[in-house]
Amino acid sequence: MQRVRLLVFNAALGALDYRVPDGMAVEPGSVVIAPLGPRQVFGIVWEPERLGGTAVADAKLRPLLEALPVAPLAAPLRRLIEWTADYYCAPIASVARMALGSMAALKGGGTTTEYRLTGAEPTRLTPQRAVALEALAGEQATIRELAEKAGVSEGVLRGMVGTGLLEPVAVDLDRPYPTARADFAAPDLSADQQAAAEAFVAAVREGGFQPFLLDGVTGSGKTECYFEAVAAALALGKQVLVLLPEIALTENFLRRFEHRFGVPPVLWHSSLKSSERRRAWRAIVSGDAQVVVGARSALFLPYARLGLIIVDEAHEVSFKQDDGVRYNARDVAVIRARFEAAPVILASATPALESMQLAEAGVYRKIALPARFGGAELPAIEILDLRAEQPERGRWLAPRLVRELKDRLLKGEQSLLFLNRRGYAPLTLCRHCGYRFQCPNCTAWLVEHRLSRRLACHHCGHEVPVPDKCPECGTPDCLVPCGPGVERIADEVSELFPEARVAVVTSDTLNSPGKVMEFVEAAENKLIDVIVGTQLVTKGYHFPELTLVGVVDADLGLEGGDLRAGERTYQQIAQVAGRAGRGEKPGEVLIQTRHPTAPVIAALASGDRDAFYEAETQSRRDAGAPPFGRWAAIIVSSEDEAEAREAARALGGTRPNLPDVAILGPAPAPMALLRGRYRYRLLIIARRSAEVQRVIREWISPLRFPPGVRIGVDIDPYSFV
Ligand code: ADP
Ligand code: ZN
Repeated sequence: MQRVRLLVFNAALGALDYRVPDGMAVEPGSVVIAPLGPRQVFGIVWEPERLGGTAVADAKLRPLLEALPVAPLAAPLRRLIEWTADYYCAPIASVARMALGSMAALKGGGTTTEYRLTGAEPTRLTPQRAVALEALAGEQATIRELAEKAGVSEGVLRGMVGTGLLEPVAVDLDRPYPTARADFAAPDLSADQQAAAEAFVAAVREGGFQPFLLDGVTGSGKTECYFEAVAAALALGKQVLVLLPEIALTENFLRRFEHRFGVPPVLWHSSLKSSERRRAWRAIVSGDAQVVVGARSALFLPYARLGLIIVDEAHEVSFKQDDGVRYNARDVAVIRARFEAAPVILASATPALESMQLAEAGVYRKIALPARFGGAELPAIEILDLRAEQPERGRWLAPRLVRELKDRLLKGEQSLLFLNRRGYAPLTLCRHCGYRFQCPNCTAWLVEHRLSRRLACHHCGHEVPVPDKCPECGTPDCLVPCGPGVERIADEVSELFPEARVAVVTSDTLNSPGKVMEFVEAAENKLIDVIVGTQLVTKGYHFPELTLVGVVDADLGLEGGDLRAGERTYQQIAQVAGRAGRGEKPGEVLIQTRHPTAPVIAALASGDRDAFYEAETQSRRDAGAPPFGRWAAIIVSSEDEAEAREAARALGGTRPNLPDVAILGPAPAPMALLRGRYRYRLLIIARRSAEVQRVIREWISPLRFPPGVRIGVDIDPYSFV
């Protein structure tokens, strides 16, 4: 009799043993369906000795129900899943689930049915149907997806199928992707670019694990360099994974990729419709997907022949996932490359301190591109001391910045104003009684959005219409916005320069690939004079006519003072500054601040990047902070305040006492209430040599908490709220 151990997709159960029925063939990595009580579960056959769990007597084993028609997960991916679960103290089932990104794809290929408008004239138009007709023009997807898109019920759409307004379309899930051509449009590289490209190409051809840090200033043409490595992988028939920090950046990337290789790459992100997800997943598993571009969730997919991984904008904080499995895709990408025996390139103009440190230590090979491509100069950076140069009352732009904006408008050049705050104003209060609008579910103010006329919580999504009187004292017309968001800055620009064409660029306005394309085209065709944007617009874009960048409030990111506040501020401002002067005309950057002597601001002004990294490195070393020490956070939460407090106290009370590990807290989290859960935090500060994960596991696993309590472990935390 053949018995197997399964990793079942249930975080609480983990490993279970089964019998393989006669005639079924499975091996480690096979994806199967197994009985569990009266239900059925997905599972992956695993090497028993690697999973733990207790062996059940042969006689008690139940047989597997079905082996699914997909290739087994290969050993390197199984090792990656184990590593990730182990390092981030996460349930291995939760990590494995990320590899099977599309559960529907497991059932096999073939066809699926989508629906689209027929174009027929409706005879009887209910309001719901009118909404659907309007919203679904040009769309094709499943009934459920269309219903979500249109904001109507599935029943309404089924009715429309019945009356011939919508028609079914058979979609082939296995239709091939067009073939990318390595030599479609190879560029002439500069000498620096050529040297970088040769190093990457050699690594791809040799195969084997080799991590690179591509450290190139903004506009140096990093993309062109790593495209050469992509070309080399294509020529060898290997697959390439390119990770980008945000979906908003993919549109831009797609265009450049298509220029270079003749066809778009295969996309992977959370808002793909289900048929595209199934198609992409199957092509990834079969090896037919040559180049996959995606957000961090693309990292764990079962590539058949992975030959190269690229992490672009590798310093970006959004590579860190902050719920569920709290992993850092940048770091796991390097580990995956190691298990797959493939090169990995981390590309950035402002590498994370951790990456710089690893390059210095010789772990990563550093490739530098110190100059912009085509002889463009880096922009001149100047500080505007807001204490000396005050904006007018009720305004946020200093006179000097206003003069420069005017100058660019007269010359027909573009400007970009950066403020990392969505909406109109971060706080709204009642002039009469002082009432402040606060989120009922979070420790946060509601942010006014004038474009949508709502007050919104940026943490949980809670929204209310802006009321016309104070909910506390009932006084009409007494609400005042406090502080600026991008919408308010845009208003200010429009008041100063009524003829200027102003675009607000945030995740609220660029919330679909179509909107991103519209924006890029409008900016390229000079239909926009002033862009007012959040961090979304700081990277990736290349607008040759953009010659002025104004940083509205450089001090914003330094508030709160978490571990990476200085580094993050440096990166954000250096990146946004990098949008200026990328074409023939030189760029200028004005940074508004009240702390011109703060080390970050001073380093930006003097362009002394090395000095900044050195100072930051020194202070982290002194504090025993990462990368010199190991940090971990534990977040205890519950919907019940007393229960959360009690659980945190119980956890704190059993803390281990070890010489190389300090455990701080528990203390109420800065966001003491988040999405309706009360939160407490503990911070673990350990020497590099300490086995933090083992310490945490041995500490937490024997403890029992009420079912409403959640204990989240965050290794190498980026968020401290
Ligand atoms: P980075 O990503 O380093 O900021 P980009 O890759 O965006 O820089 O390159 C800046 C601009 O220069 C882009 O428009 C790019 O197409 C162009 N460019 C870079 N290298 C070359 C090259 N070798 N030939 C032609 N254009 C190039
Ligand atoms: Zn909220």
